[in-house]
Amino acid sequence: MSNNNEKQLENIYDICSKLYSNMCGNKRTDHCILFSYLTELGKSLVNADRASFWKWDTYKHELWTTSATGTDKIVIPENTGLVGKALKEQRVVITNDPYSDPDFNSAVDKKTGYVTKSILVMPIADVNGDFIGALQVINKPGGFDEERDTRCLSLAAIVCGLTLESDTFLENSQHDKLTRLKNRLGFQNDYVRIYSKVLEQGRPLSMFICDIDKFKRVNDTYGHNAGDAVLSFNANILAEACEEGQGVYRWGGEEFIMMMPDTTLDKCVEKAETIRKRIMESPCDIGTEIINYTVSFGCRQFDPVLSVIDNINAADEHLYTAKAEGRNRVIF
Ligand code: GH3
Ligand code: MG
Ligand code: MG
Repeated sequence: MSNNNEKQLENIYDICSKLYSNMCGNKRTDHCILFSYLTELGKSLVNADRASFWKWDTYKHELWTTSATGTDKIVIPENTGLVGKALKEQRVVITNDPYSDPDFNSAVDKKTGYVTKSILVMPIADVNGDFIGALQVINKPGGFDEERDTRCLSLAAIVCGLTLESDTFLENSQHDKLTRLKNRLGFQNDYVRIYSKVLEQGRPLSMFICDIDKFKRVNDTYGHNAGDAVLSFNANILAEACEEGQGVYRWGGEEFIMMMPDTTLDKCVEKAETIRKRIMESPCDIGTEIINYTVSFGCRQFDPVLSVIDNINAADEHLYTAKAEGRNRVIF
């Protein structure tokens, strides 16, 4: 084996071992660091100068990357640029003369003064064969060779595909599709990661559970789509009221939870009251109708001795009282 090959292999082992330790130690939801190592792996495998890993958001019809050199996050419309072309045509795209390629976007070069001389884009699929992203490598001395470099890059493309797929799957499983809020699984995950630590450190932790009043009537009167619109509208009001460090979750059908670390019961009640009034004063305009609705709240400061379920049940009992006493009120 030549010296160069050995050096390259050592480099790859280095990146993989960093990647491995990061995966085992990664306790954050932000997976950017893992993808930057995977991108680094792709760059090393083909001996390129730069690399970026692009994710295809088919929901927002966008392509985005956080791993391109010289810039933070780039977001472009799907089907644009060489990455868009590779994904649209579902094939590897190579250019060794980018400035004369109409699909090449020279914006980053213009901004940073970098000169792109060659590009290879390899689309990435999930295990079902659906394309979900792409690896882009830039500037290889002598230019890219389709057969050779595609073969070398395939290892990084496979690992990137699997990682992206499981990352997306995890993200989706913890979010509710309609309101885009975190769901019960997202709550459980955040509880272990964040809120249980607040209690362990002896800090106050409060929550409210709230439920839309007579929501069945909204569905019955205006239809299920209108009901969905009210749910999204209500989720937005809660999300807007959510301050740094706090969390809001769709707990069930028309029930939501807000978690407030470093907050005592009186402050929690104050906040619930403000939100209750805001909802009462902001009817939901769905275009064809203006829907007035109200919400009932049950507040609770966590008792660290009790389990999370017992604490939530205690808040739920207050919510039940709010309903029994006539709705559109905060009980604690
Ligand atoms: P209360 O004031 O006692 O809470 O009365 P309510 O009508 O709100 O309560 P109930 O539990 O009887 O009805 C809740 C309704 O919420 C029933 C269910 O069809 C509706 N629902 C649950 N999830 C969704 C959803 O995702 N979209 C729509 N449109 N409706 C939903
Ligand atoms: Mg209800
Ligand atoms: Mg309910």
